[in-house]
Amino acid sequence: MSSSKSHFNNIETRAIHAGRVGDPSFGSLATPIHQTSTFIFDNVQQGANRFAGEEQGYIYSRLGNPTVRELEQKMAALENTEDAAAFGSGMGAVSATLLANLKQGDHLVASSALYGCSFALINHKFADFGIEVTFVDITDLSEVEDAVKENTKLIYFETPINPNMVCADMEGINQIAKKHDLLTVMDNTFMSPVLQQPSDFGMDLIIHSATKYLNGHGDVIGGIVCGSAEQIEHIKMTTQKDMGATMSPNDAWLICRGLKTLSVRVERHCDNAEKLADYLSAHPDIEAVYYPGLKSHPANHLIGKQMKRAGGVIAFEVSGGFDDAVRFMNQLELCHIAVSLGDAETLIQHPASMTHSTYTPEERAEAGISETLIRISVGLEHADDIIGDLEQALQKMKIKVA
Ligand SMILES: *Cc1c(COP(=O)(O)O)cnc(C)c1O
Repeated sequence: MSSSKSHFNNIETRAIHAGRVGDPSFGSLATPIHQTSTFIFDNVQQGANRFAGEEQGYIYSRLGNPTVRELEQKMAALENTEDAAAFGSGMGAVSATLLANLKQGDHLVASSALYGCSFALINHKFADFGIEVTFVDITDLSEVEDAVKENTKLIYFETPINPNMVCADMEGINQIAKKHDLLTVMDNTFMSPVLQQPSDFGMDLIIHSATKYLNGHGDVIGGIVCGSAEQIEHIKMTTQKDMGATMSPNDAWLICRGLKTLSVRVERHCDNAEKLADYLSAHPDIEAVYYPGLKSHPANHLIGKQMKRAGGVIAFEVSGGFDDAVRFMNQLELCHIAVSLGDAETLIQHPASMTHSTYTPEERAEAGISETLIRISVGLEHADDIIGDLEQALQKMKIKVA
């Protein structure tokens, strides 16, 4: 496909057609799953030429695979970047991207609130390699700039932030990064390219846990990083090739299938989440609702500017304490208690005891993740059914058993 053709411009169309590898042998509509570990060379010279990079062609599936390539090309087209690299998990993409760009003695500035394992990697593991970090309130641009030092190499953050839905201003962060010649690495998992394209705001490397909205069906673990051809080549030839968190062809195929419906799914997730956020906001037993789509949210002004809509995840607090939150969650009948997000099923979880248990209670307080915070990934069921389930569970929450 050619993205220069005007009828390939819209993201709904690109999600279906972009990056197609296809099937030159039989013309099948769906690209075949090239479930192979290795590729046969015609002769020794051809093998040598491929290893030397003098001839195009596949070598071994850790280094590249046609089905995985379709996903990479599709994601580059959706994020408006030159290229992309696929990984066996979102954390594979995060770790490979950061380690390809940091070495002993380097410093990074990172948001204090992050996906739990990204925080654990940066806060605990990087210290073993002599990589320094300063955690900042990413919404406070002067704090971000003040954290920049002589040896700072990059800024790492998410927006909206998992799990509390705080949003960062990409334009402001980009200005600081450009002024100090820093790389920006942004985790766009919560929005997907349908709602937010960070490259428009100067972000250099855009990461996704493909496990979430991109695949959307709760049956794959995968990750992606999108960026310039030079950066992607660098990541592929260093941390991807030699550390090996490669995506399997079968998983790439499932994610490509998921991407065909990405825009319709995401719009419905948003429709449902907006209804749920309104319901929760009006409920007497709900203490607080954190959803950027609400007028009361501090980042509401970013809707229409950096993000098209507010997405499908809502964070909230029930009135009362931790025990009330637990009683509420245990009464749910339709919503599943599970981590992950972006699936057809509504999933609900308690960050302090689940995804963000990698933080100490002090670190959670610092990052604005309260002990009573509940995160709901609003699914594709009928909004009335999800609301009905929350309503019956909230009613039962109030009946305290001695
Ligand atoms: C889930 C998630 C990750 C990690 O992705 P995996 O596919 O589980 O490795 C990273 N960032 C965010 C924002 C996530 O939600």
